[in-house]
Amino acid sequence: MDVAHHHPKVRRASAGWAWDCSCGGASCRTGVVSFSWREAVISALNHAATLAP
Ligand SMILES: [Zn+2]
Repeated sequence: MDVAHHHPKVRRASAGWAWDCSCGGASCRTGVVSFSWREAVISALNHAATLAP
């Protein structure tokens, strides 16, 4: 598992919070439009900890 290339950044979205990553991953690609801030952070960490597409 290589998390070095995953640096998702939580950002404000129109309807809450979202994240996107330099690898091209983004929360919107997980099927979720927006999160609460806490959910966005957890989801972003999740992305970094797994080899999400
Ligand atoms: Zn990534």
